[in-house]
Amino acid sequence: MTVEMIFVGTELLLGNIVNTNGQFLSEQCAALGLSVYYQSVVGDNEGRMREVISTALGRSDMVILCGGLGPTEDDLTKEICAQVMGIPLVEDEHVKEALEAFVRRIGLQMTDNVYKQAMVPQGAKPFDGTGDTQRETCWILPNSNGTAPGLVMEKNGKAAILLPGPPGEMKPMFMDSVRPYLMGKSGQTLTSALVKVCGVGESLAETMVLDLVDAQTNPTIATYAKNNEVHIRVTASAPGEKEGKKLLKPCVKELKRRFGDSVYTVKPEVTLEMAVVKLLKKHGLTMTTAESCTGGMVASRLVNVPGVSAFFSEGFVTYSDQAKHTLLGVKKGTLKKYTAVSEQTALEMAAGGAAANKSDLCVSVTGIAGPGGGTKEIPVGRVYIGCWLRGETTVKEYTFSGSREKIREYAASAALDLARRCMLNYFRK
Ligand code: ATP
Ligand code: MG
Repeated sequence: MTVEMIFVGTELLLGNIVNTNGQFLSEQCAALGLSVYYQSVVGDNEGRMREVISTALGRSDMVILCGGLGPTEDDLTKEICAQVMGIPLVEDEHVKEALEAFVRRIGLQMTDNVYKQAMVPQGAKPFDGTGDTQRETCWILPNSNGTAPGLVMEKNGKAAILLPGPPGEMKPMFMDSVRPYLMGKSGQTLTSALVKVCGVGESLAETMVLDLVDAQTNPTIATYAKNNEVHIRVTASAPGEKEGKKLLKPCVKELKRRFGDSVYTVKPEVTLEMAVVKLLKKHGLTMTTAESCTGGMVASRLVNVPGVSAFFSEGFVTYSDQAKHTLLGVKKGTLKKYTAVSEQTALEMAAGGAAANKSDLCVSVTGIAGPGGGTKEIPVGRVYIGCWLRGETTVKEYTFSGSREKIREYAASAALDLARRCMLNYFRK
């Protein structure tokens, strides 16, 4: 199925607005495995719109039009597209009622031109995400964020999909209606895996998959940065889920090979703390936390996991030097000589936390979350994370950037990640 897109609006031609809808729709179509061969931008001009729509429908199976569905004089997309396709427009009672309700809700008066938006292709049916899209039908796509409904016009084996211009209306309409319509049309289902990576920066992760992304056809690969993680979504389009999973398998395997221990799951629903708890459970370990600048965030994330009480009974928040000394047994000499934000302190916190709680594992976090308190030697964002696992110790130095809140979030993720990696290493031996 070949697809082409037409973006309508003189403001796009003048450069007054950026065609962000173009990027969104292109990305979405690529993820659906659809071949987009042409894209055009046309002003709100009757003759030129007629020309570009006729050309598009002549050479592509499906044309997505975006913009010009509104109530004003220059909103002509629907009228011209219907003319070109030879489809009559009629007023739809339900759309009219929905329009009136929407206008009332936002406190405006109904005007004659608003009713223009109740005109739909003759015989069009409402599309709620399910329906027989294989049969030639015209559809009305509900717009929960604005007045103009979207439309699908089908005739003689060609289809035009008409979407409103405002991104806040277009995007949800695409996701809720157009995507299922397109999938039904192509007889395909989408299956995806989410490879979640921790401890590798976004740009490095992108470089590591660049060749795969460049060569992608089916499955497609897209990376997203999320907090302190990078998520790589692999999506296959296939006639069924089983075939889709088969297509995903080699790609997921290759990503696991490239990222090694940095991959903590390939399941969308699994979080980093869940991966940590899973390892604790697997090896029958108990864990505690010894936190300074994260102030309990690591403990809080562990407690997100149902059933964690079998592995986690107590966490320490030791913000002052005094608390680090009395609760965790960090030596006064260490604090004096190396300061609280140091490798040595992080290590003693981890060892002290494990001893105080008699646990198998303890992670510690000490750092400067800012915005003040940094020095030339120890800048804002410097965080030391320690891990004690049955007598084996590891410590890591990080320099995070961003707001106080971000630095603390990053540090909590890094602490969970270090606990995870230490367990993997310990039990591999
Ligand atoms: P309205 O009911 O608001 O008139 P419409 O469907 O007629 O909606 P347009 O009039 O073409 O859409 O555009 C309305 C607004 O939507 C534009 O002013 C712009 O802010 C945004 N918009 C339109 N097209 C795009 C696009 N391709 N990319 C990003 N934003 C767009
Ligand atoms: Mg408009």
